[in-house]
Amino acid sequence: MNTLKTPMPEEALGDYIKRLRGELKMSQNQLAIAAGIHLHSLGKIERGITTRLNHKTRRGLAKALSIPSEYLEAICSGAEIQPAFTSIKFCPQCWTPGTSTEPIWQDIRSLHCFICGFELVDHCLKCSKSVTTFQHCYCPYCGFYYKNTTVEIGTNSIPIKRQNSQTKKK
Ligand SMILES: [Zn+2]
Ligand SMILES: [Zn+2]
Repeated sequence: MNTLKTPMPEEALGDYIKRLRGELKMSQNQLAIAAGIHLHSLGKIERGITTRLNHKTRRGLAKALSIPSEYLEAICSGAEIQPAFTSIKFCPQCWTPGTSTEPIWQDIRSLHCFICGFELVDHCLKCSKSVTTFQHCYCPYCGFYYKNTTVEIGTNSIPIKRQNSQTKKK
């Protein structure tokens, strides 16, 4: 799953659908057929005339655009997009910061790492700021290294090697 598929903050339902449709290179007609809704209805959604989707439309669109229907639900209900929707989920043990994450970790139903079983996180374990890009190895807010951060939260605390706090007294 690709993070571009998550709704952007403040993005309207119509703009979101249109953006995803563009990414999939589908015409309005193709999407309407794939979602099992009328072309006319889809047009109204994209133009922002329809802002509430019924269950069937939501399911159809989610399937056609291969996104979780929760995304559409969140947009329609005007609920704030959960941080989990816009941030990157990763396993602090298996992920190599600076590289892309395993797609399965991004699945909103994934709670634990499929490799090691460790609980997935989507934020810096030190300052709790959301991780929104996997291009950084260190948290841009506090400088914490994203990987092997289990020492901070794990039950068996392992001494941190990087702590070279040899205070030289002068
Ligand atoms: Zn893991
Ligand atoms: Zn941080």
